[in-house]
Amino acid sequence: MKNIIGNANKTTKCQTTDSDFVCKKNDECILEIEDLGTEGEGIGKICGYTLFVKDALIGDKIRVKVMKTKKNYGYAKLLEIIKPSNWRTEPKCPMARQCGGCQLQHCNYEKQLEWKRKKVENCINRIGGLKHIKVSPVIGMNFPYYYRNKAQFPVGNDKNGNIITGFYAGRTHSIVPFTQCCIQHPYNSAILDIIIRYMQENKISAYNETSHKGIVRHIITRIAQVTGEIMVCLVINADKLPKSEKLVQMLLGCNSKELDIKSICININKEKTNVILGNMTEVVYGSHYITDYIGQIKYHISLSSFYQVNHEQTEKLYEKVLELADLKGKETVWDLYCGIGTISLFLAQKAEKVYGVEIVAQAIEDAQENAVLNNVSNVEFFVGAAEEVVPLQYEKSGRKLKADVVTLDPPRKGCDEKLLNTVVNMQPKKIVYVSCDPATLARDLKYLCQKNYNVEKIQPYDMFGQSYHIENVVLLTKMHK
Ligand code: SAH
Repeated sequence: MKNIIGNANKTTKCQTTDSDFVCKKNDECILEIEDLGTEGEGIGKICGYTLFVKDALIGDKIRVKVMKTKKNYGYAKLLEIIKPSNWRTEPKCPMARQCGGCQLQHCNYEKQLEWKRKKVENCINRIGGLKHIKVSPVIGMNFPYYYRNKAQFPVGNDKNGNIITGFYAGRTHSIVPFTQCCIQHPYNSAILDIIIRYMQENKISAYNETSHKGIVRHIITRIAQVTGEIMVCLVINADKLPKSEKLVQMLLGCNSKELDIKSICININKEKTNVILGNMTEVVYGSHYITDYIGQIKYHISLSSFYQVNHEQTEKLYEKVLELADLKGKETVWDLYCGIGTISLFLAQKAEKVYGVEIVAQAIEDAQENAVLNNVSNVEFFVGAAEEVVPLQYEKSGRKLKADVVTLDPPRKGCDEKLLNTVVNMQPKKIVYVSCDPATLARDLKYLCQKNYNVEKIQPYDMFGQSYHIENVVLLTKMHK
């Protein structure tokens, strides 16, 4: 092993004497972090060779051990912080480094927001090729902890055979056992403790991924912020959960005035897969949904339906969508990737007609119920892939289908080009694009800009404080030819 001193800053020459410098596995070196990668990992250079270091921040001077090397870059492990960056702060969670859930707890929140804004701007400039576009400062949370309303905890056994639950360590499937996560609702830990106790007392086994044996795979909870209603679901590798009535009894015992378990479900997943949910769900207590509010609108949310995880930020984001859509009451709106109709119902308050399209059938059932629940009659929903439904409706109309406003809110992979092409043909004056992935957003904006749309505003929202993720709302307007 040799000790190497990296080019701590750009003016210092590399101090190694080896001119054919190669960074090898197990080398230890000292480097200064100059940038952060897309997933929040520190980036430093040693003699021009790039090293990625998890848990390191811009401005840190650190000692690292090289773990893996590729031709032009490698990965190193943080061993010691020699001089800390002024971005550093003490992580709230003692497990922050082991757990894969948060990547930025060691980074001051203001700096997290600053970095996220830059990250979006880089994507828009580099991938989108839209050099002149400025990204607005990120709208952050008032308190960036305990905000998630949905949690998925894997269940397993430790070395001694004890049942454990917690979170996966970064990029692995080994469970870091802990139940007091500081981005989840604090109530989760009481629920998890009860479920573990139920499993121990009734000899219900935990699932083992390797042997594909054992019963309980995951615990899912959803907590409605406004109503306090809770859904608890156990995902099992069996047709039935033994003694489920005991589980119901134990869980209901922890209901309080503020928090109320309204739904207990058992989801059956007997596949050898990383996908958490199976296709069959049995309700063993209460209803198949919980109810929550965003603004004045009431929503029923089922287990398999998508619902934004951060209530405070979602409210701000939907208000922004409404503001940017700038509806006057006569418009036809298409809300694509509409989930349970959240944005559709928000916009229906001010539009003549809103059409929603969503691939998950249960979400559309929820959306239809939600329209009735809120006395909204000017919405219509379609089940299916947006890239199939919308082109089909366009053809059916004899290519006459038009929209005044289109909202797009796709999953991380962004929109299919076939869909974007049809959207352009529908000639909306405005497109409001809500995105959870800046790279695919940039790709899709590039396409829309080539088709005569102009990016007017990019507004990031921090929906996922302490993680590297960032949500954006973009307004595009059709240019006059
Ligand atoms: N607008 C909603 C949901 C956004 S999440 C909200 O704010 O709550 C993205 C949604 O797209 C999910 O509900 C997902 O099920 C759905 N989806 C994924 N792929 C799709 C596709 N190809 N066509 C239509 N919907 C899709």
